[in-house]
Amino acid sequence: MVPVELMEVPRDAAPVPVGGCESCAELAVREAESAARFDYSGAVDARVLLRRHHGSAHR
Ligand SMILES: [Zn+2]
Repeated sequence: MVPVELMEVPRDAAPVPVGGCESCAELAVREAESAARFDYSGAVDARVLLRRHHGSAHR
């Protein structure tokens, strides 16, 4: 059986912001604000930056 949580996460989901990390918090806020004003390219942008940041800062 495939775990349900794996199926529910979209493939392009942003990494979970790391608590206490200012960069994570900033990018998470940027994504949320962009999505809130229907600026989806801005939201995707923030998500890409967050994922890149995770790759370099939280490995
Ligand atoms: Zn971070």
